[in-house]
Amino acid sequence: DPSSGAGLKEAAAPRTLPPGQGAGRPCLSIVIPFYNEGENVDALFERLTPTLDRLGMAWEVVCVNDGSRDNTLDRLIAAHGREPRIKVVELSRNFGKELALSAGLRHTTGDAIVPMDADLQHPPELLPDLIARWREGFDVVVAVRHARIGQSFRHRLFARAFYWVFDNLSEVRLPREAGDFRLMDRKVVDVINRMPERTRFMKGIFAWVGFRQTSIPYLQGERVGGEAKWGFVKLLRLAFDGLTAFSTFPLRVWSIVGMVVSGVAFVYIVIRLLRTLLFGIDVPGYESLLVTILFLGGIQLITLGIIGDYLGRVFNEVKGRPLFIVRSVHGFDDQKVSAER
Ligand code: UDP
Ligand code: MG
Repeated sequence: DPSSGAGLKEAAAPRTLPPGQGAGRPCLSIVIPFYNEGENVDALFERLTPTLDRLGMAWEVVCVNDGSRDNTLDRLIAAHGREPRIKVVELSRNFGKELALSAGLRHTTGDAIVPMDADLQHPPELLPDLIARWREGFDVVVAVRHARIGQSFRHRLFARAFYWVFDNLSEVRLPREAGDFRLMDRKVVDVINRMPERTRFMKGIFAWVGFRQTSIPYLQGERVGGEAKWGFVKLLRLAFDGLTAFSTFPLRVWSIVGMVVSGVAFVYIVIRLLRTLLFGIDVPGYESLLVTILFLGGIQLITLGIIGDYLGRVFNEVKGRPLFIVRSVHGFDDQKVSAER
C-alpha cells in the first residue's frame, strides 16, 4: 500500500479517541473554493463557524480564492482577521474549481477533510452526521443529494446522460447525485494529493481511490447569492474531460468500428465481383461510391479528433507545469508549528 507512510497511521489514530482526550483533539479541515463569491463570504461563515464550534473538534477552514475579480479576497482576509482558524490561499489567477480544490486539499492539516461550496448549497448542519460515520470507521462519507434544487431541466437531463455514459465506459463507478461534498480521512487526501495528473476530474478521482466508502443523503439548498459559474459549455467540457481521463474506450472503439466496416466492405466486394463475373458490368455506382467515401471520411476525421484530444492531454501532462500557482497565503504560519508537533 503506497499510501501508508509513517505519518499517516498516526494521523488516523485520534479518530477513536473521544474529543478532548489524548495529545491533540482530532482536527477537521473544511476546504472551500471561492470564485467571485464576495456577497456569500459573510453569510457562509455566519452559518459555518458556529456549527464547527459545536462539533467538539479542533477545526480549520482553508479558503481558496480562485482568482476572483470582485471583493472576495478582501472579505476572506477580513474573516481571517476576525477568526484565525479561517485560512486563505490566494491563487495567482482563476484555475477553475477542480484545481482550486486540489490547492485547498494540499494546504489542509486535519485528520478529516470536507470540501464544500461557498454558496451554502452544502449545508454545514450535515457535518455532525458526516463525522459520526467517519468515527464509525469509514474513510469516505459521501453526501448524496436526494433532490436537485435550483438546477434546470436541461442540466438534470444532461447529468443523467453523463452518468449513464460514464458508467458504461469507465471502470470506476461514480456515486449518483454526489458532488464534491464529502468527508475524507487524512489517508485518502494524502493519496489524492500525490496524484500528479493535470486533468483533475475530482468526482472520478474521489471514486478511483477506493477505501471504505459510505453515503448519507442531504437536501441541496439553493445558492444564497450570485450565480452558478458553470455554463452549459463548461459543463460539457468537464464531462468530456472526465470521460477521457477515466476511460480509453473512445480511443479503442475505432478498431472495432474499423473491423466492422472492413467486414461489410469485404462482403460487398465479393458480391460486386460475382455480379460483374456473372452479369457483366453495369455502369451506375456513383452514389454508393460517394456515400462510402463520405462515410469513411467522416469516421476517420472523428477518430483523428479523438486521438488528437488524448494527444493534447499527454502533451499537457508531459510539460509538467504546476497544477496551480499560489500567490500568497494567510494564516498558515501556525500550521508549521502543528505539523512539527
Ligand atoms: N468555483 C471556483 N472556480 C471556478 C468556478 C467555481 O472556485 O472557476 C467555486 C465557486 O465559488 C463555488 C464552487 O466552486 O464555491 C461551486 O461553484 P458553483 O456554485 O458555481 O457550481 P455548482 O453549484 O453548479 O456546482
Ligand atoms: Mg453552487
